[in-house]
Amino acid sequence: MTTPQLDRLAGHCTRLRLHRVGVELATLLEQAAKRELGYADFLDEVLGLEIQSKHAKHVAMHVAMHVAMARFPFQKGLESFDWKFQPSIDPKVIKELATGRYLVDGDNVLLLGPPGVGKTHLAVALGLTACTLGLRTMFTTAAGLITTLGKALYENRLEERLKVLTQPTLLIIDEIGYIPIDRQGANLFFQLISRRYERGSVLVTSNQSLGAWGEVFGDPVIASAILDRLLHHATTVNIKGESYRLKEKRRAGLLRPVAPVEPAE
Ligand code: ADP
Ligand code: MG
Repeated sequence: MTTPQLDRLAGHCTRLRLHRVGVELATLLEQAAKRELGYADFLDEVLGLEIQSKHAKHVAMHVAMHVAMARFPFQKGLESFDWKFQPSIDPKVIKELATGRYLVDGDNVLLLGPPGVGKTHLAVALGLTACTLGLRTMFTTAAGLITTLGKALYENRLEERLKVLTQPTLLIIDEIGYIPIDRQGANLFFQLISRRYERGSVLVTSNQSLGAWGEVFGDPVIASAILDRLLHHATTVNIKGESYRLKEKRRAGLLRPVAPVEPAE
């Protein structure tokens, strides 16, 4: 139902940017009449609603900004993770991480396991959780990170770059181990880990066991210096099992209708 007064009120709400109240005006008035609300109670409810709505919008914008800045390769949360498929993961451990408590102390997370078992998925999900908590998050691959640091060194801007990489509360470094790292890369990586040590959390994923990191970094001494810092306060999740990608392919294969074989004449 609209009346000239209701239209005028809606106009006032628009000009005063009381958008939520504007949308719900008719319902609010109707309900207030039914409940015989006093003037002060009505005003209290209406203004409270607008404040709540503005706050929620502000939070959502903030989260969206953090998510955009984090540069995730995709957006997947824990709700889309199939725990039954990967029984080697204790959901309690991941759910504890999802509370973000480790971020308060700058503790680290290591997700280890073969390809396709959900390391990147979980890393992104935990990154999204950090964004939801209003924390600055940055996602990068090990290869991308080392290229960036090498370029910064070459351009005499290493200090600046290290500072940028030390700022986020959570730095996610995906895919350590796929590409061998040269001596300079290992050195730069070590510098970054030292900078963040006990200051900001690092979440790393690796397809290699920690024992093989000496080879990944081309130097067992530097690898153990990196691991020493990463592992000092850390949750390590060892994922064993089948690749989810392969499972999906297999299932697709099973579901594909098989053409009936024509008997040879
Ligand atoms: P990894 O980083 O370990 O190689 P990914 O996280 O990239 O593996 O997983 C490969 C694909 O399979 C992604 O699309 C991911 O979302 C999906 N996936 C992996 N494990 C699961 C799971 N347990 N439940 C749902 N999706 C999964
Ligand atoms: Mg991955």
